[in-house]
Amino acid sequence: VSELDALVIGAGLAGLATGAALRAHGVPRFAVVEQGADVGHFWSTTYDRLHLHSPWHDLPYDGGASRRYPMYKSKHDMARYFREYAKRHELDSHLRLGERVLRVRRRGGDAGDGDGWSIETTRGEHSARYLVVATAINRSPHEPAIPARQAYRGAALHSVQYRNPTPFRGQRVLVVGSGNSAAEIALDLVQGGAAAVAMWVRGPRWFIPLRRMSLIYRLFRLLGQASPAKMDVRHRITFGTPEFERALAPIDALGRRLAVDLSAFGIRQPELGPQRESFARGRIPTYDVGAVEEIRRGRIRVIDGNRRPIEGFTESGVRFADGDEPFDAVVLATGFRPKLEEFLAEPAMLGPVRWLEAAPLTDGRCRSVVYPTAFFPGFDPTPIGGLSLGRWGWEVGSTIAREIGRA
Ligand SMILES: Cc1cc2nc3c(=O)[nH]c(=O)nc-3n(C[C@H](O)[C@H](O)[C@H](O)COP(=O)(O)OP(=O)(O)OC[C@H]3O[C@@H](n4cnc5c(N)ncnc54)[C@H](O)[C@@H]3O)c2cc1C
Repeated sequence: VSELDALVIGAGLAGLATGAALRAHGVPRFAVVEQGADVGHFWSTTYDRLHLHSPWHDLPYDGGASRRYPMYKSKHDMARYFREYAKRHELDSHLRLGERVLRVRRRGGDAGDGDGWSIETTRGEHSARYLVVATAINRSPHEPAIPARQAYRGAALHSVQYRNPTPFRGQRVLVVGSGNSAAEIALDLVQGGAAAVAMWVRGPRWFIPLRRMSLIYRLFRLLGQASPAKMDVRHRITFGTPEFERALAPIDALGRRLAVDLSAFGIRQPELGPQRESFARGRIPTYDVGAVEEIRRGRIRVIDGNRRPIEGFTESGVRFADGDEPFDAVVLATGFRPKLEEFLAEPAMLGPVRWLEAAPLTDGRCRSVVYPTAFFPGFDPTPIGGLSLGRWGWEVGSTIAREIGRA
């Protein structure tokens, strides 16, 4: 058992930045444990055509590396960028790649928080004073239980298993959901030669063309509003405070103006503004890269899930409340959950938070309110969304360094 100052789980945006901060502040003994074969493993698990919809997505103190990449990085750009970052911050000797965390519990049981953490992995046991869980709010695919799935002879897969349209050429495909994955996969299928593509949509959803957002982002940048210093200020605004509400109001007003109306196709707009909707319900606006046009042209057929609920699978397709329809494949773009309970054996640390049934109970700055030597960077919202992930990591790493007398 190695004794560490801090153990970070996950080498994604939040975990790598945590590691970089720990190293920058001279914390001697820490490890970043990552189940994947490389840093930024998450991005290798996404579909092929993926480009981020967050502009200039970067990590703190990257030495300007992000400027060498396009405004919206591809998944391959992300992989390269992560590797560069790990090298720049000399994280190699702290990284434990290909090691999966199986179980985390407090050492000393009820004896108290000062006793630190015991972390069991596929390679052995670690113990650490501080625990950083950077495994992402969207760690695990979420699939609704749909009756008679075993009876279905076609392919039923979660969006996480979808790579490209090749296997679906000439097929009739149903995509369940209306989020970013659903819309982009439906578009990919249409462009990649599927015979017919339908999108089953139940909840309300904002659709905002990414092109329109790009113009706004560029304007913001020109006006100096997207500088790292300005973004840092926005990152520091804590969720739930009046300041947060004030910061959100103009973003939501703008989002409403940029959104497109798809109500004629059965896709309703949410009552809350785009940002509030994503914080309250986890329904991130769909930043459209072409699906809207295909919906309007009828090449993506929208099925209104309120009028036609799914009752289950049949042998050859799907049973809706008003009848059966044949599909050769069904893609469930039904989202993700953190599923921390799968390895975090401290149930008191989790509870209902916003739309999630089991999320870490934090102080709004990603620190556990139950055991304050545990942090969950990336689990609390900020007005800059995903652009906060690296900043969370740096903040958490710096806090730990300070508390152990290093910063
Ligand atoms: C298709 C798709 C597109 C997206 N596009 C965007 C976007 O444009 N902008 C945006 O901000 N967000 C986007 N997201 C969300 C994105 O996933 C998160 O914003 C981001 O990856 C979260 O970063 P993170 O550092 O919290 O976690 P991640 O980058 O997911 O890193 C978590 C790491 O933890 C590791 N891990 C998990 N469990 C264990 C374990 N038990 N043991 C060891 N290691 C473990 C994982 O392998 C992973 O490498 C997208 C998500 C999807 C699915």
